[in-house]
Amino acid sequence: MSTSNFRSDVVVIGCGIAGLSAAVSALQAGSVVHLLERAGEDDYGGNSRWTGAALRMNNDSEVSDDFEEFFARNASLNLDPNIVAEVSREYAGWPDYVKSHPFADPELIAHFASNVPPTIQWLKSFGLRFGPQSSYKFTQDTKRIYPDGGGLAIIERLSAEAKSLGGKIFYRTTATNFLRGNSGHIEGVVAVGPAGERCEFTAGGVILASGGFQGNSEMLTHYLGPRARHIRPVARGGYYNKGEGIRMALAAGAAPAGEFGSYHAEPLDPRSRQPDPVVFVYPYGVLLNTKGERFLDEAPGSVSASSDYIARTIADQMDGTAFAVFDAQVEDIPRWRTSVRSEIPPMQAENLPELFARLQIAVKPAMATIETFNAACPNSAAFNPFQLDGLATSGLMITKSNHARQIVKPPFRAYPIISGICFTFGGLKVNTNAQILDQDAKIISGLYAAGETVGLYQRAYTGSTSVLRSAVFGRLAGLHAASVPHSAKASGVPKSLGAVTS
Ligand SMILES: Cc1cc2nc3c(=O)[nH]c(=O)nc-3n(C[C@H](O)[C@H](O)[C@H](O)COP(=O)(O)OP(=O)(O)OC[C@H]3O[C@@H](n4cnc5c(N)ncnc54)[C@H](O)[C@@H]3O)c2cc1C
Repeated sequence: MSTSNFRSDVVVIGCGIAGLSAAVSALQAGSVVHLLERAGEDDYGGNSRWTGAALRMNNDSEVSDDFEEFFARNASLNLDPNIVAEVSREYAGWPDYVKSHPFADPELIAHFASNVPPTIQWLKSFGLRFGPQSSYKFTQDTKRIYPDGGGLAIIERLSAEAKSLGGKIFYRTTATNFLRGNSGHIEGVVAVGPAGERCEFTAGGVILASGGFQGNSEMLTHYLGPRARHIRPVARGGYYNKGEGIRMALAAGAAPAGEFGSYHAEPLDPRSRQPDPVVFVYPYGVLLNTKGERFLDEAPGSVSASSDYIARTIADQMDGTAFAVFDAQVEDIPRWRTSVRSEIPPMQAENLPELFARLQIAVKPAMATIETFNAACPNSAAFNPFQLDGLATSGLMITKSNHARQIVKPPFRAYPIISGICFTFGGLKVNTNAQILDQDAKIISGLYAAGETVGLYQRAYTGSTSVLRSAVFGRLAGLHAASVPHSAKASGVPKSLGAVTS
């Protein structure tokens, strides 16, 4: 089979919010842009297609008050105090090992935060609208706004804009390798087209916006270990993100960033066929593993701040499964059913031994766990499901810090929960232009990352910042790639569009 050749100023890999933000920005700046998208036209957009797109912002012109602080708190595990001292200086003076360190460095996070408001204003220029909404997570740690129509509205609006500006999207086309010149400049990508044919896309700049590796079982096992066998993407879009972009860049010498062994997790009902069938009722009962044990504090803080860690810990339990067990007192909670997005009803029984037998968890240990838990619950009427009410157990090895009420009133119910993977944390180190840095903090000429391919998160996910990461770094990458006289652009290769067969 012959090779098809295509030439543009900028080639973008992936048509989610990151890729489309990059493409539209570059097109507005006058570049010729090609977009490669592994999915078909009916299913493009990866995770972006399925997200409600909560944004960590006070309103559409201000990031939340804790935006940079939350990143700083989770910037790295056991961050070396020498690195902390170095980053208190001007960025230009940081040693290379600090510039390429895999943490969310303050230079990048400050730039990210300051670019959020103009990026939202830019999205509004396409008719998108943003505002507050009620959440199915009943306790919140920060302020959030949402686009009307969620992520789907953003990708539909941006792809229409990209096409109207002359951008060309190549669907069912998967990038697999770079074209790299002797100078080290990334000159384009090799891809596999719809019929399995080899395609070469030559360009002055290449923007990797192909998501994380949550759809690649081999990479998940490699980086997350055996727990990977228990987890699955939270929605169909995640299956398209197989990590080629990250793998290609690492092979080209890129510095890794973000915590490769971790991911943003959500508690899912494994029986459900719905996208994102989250179960957030567990703070109002207990979580038991299949051995009938509690294994963590079910309500250590707000649901929005703690569910990531809780859902990851479920992956480490036997069979990667836990059960949210609660009693009929849940009916005291107005609209409690909205905290569960599974279409499958909970398992139910008139008594606990019967319920545990149906759940196939060890009945005797589970009964002992509930009796001990009930005895440790406070005697108080101050239960408040919408605030951290401080109703904590006392004297248990594993405390429940809020919403602790005895589990005594039939019928008893339970939802099975597994750890869903929203996106992987491991990605690529970029500078404030979204240019990818190598292990020595040198810019890899012609190569950019945006969205999930950018490694930002360690420890706890700074909630509701991933869509912003896509839009902001996509826009930064697109604008920079369009502005730079890349060597390939300047090489005199004609900017002919369309297929040339060799
Ligand atoms: C159900 C759900 C709820 C979420 N809720 C929130 C939220 O409230 N707030 C928030 O901030 N984030 C949320 N997220 C996460 C957020 O939506 C994503 O992290 C973000 O949209 C990712 O954007 P992206 O452009 O980087 O990647 P994606 O949107 O995943 O796009 C990647 C694209 O690249 C394509 N691709 C992959 N590999 C290749 C290849 N080799 N060649 C060509 N194309 C390729 C894929 O097909 C896909 O179209 C949620 C995600 C989901 C699924």
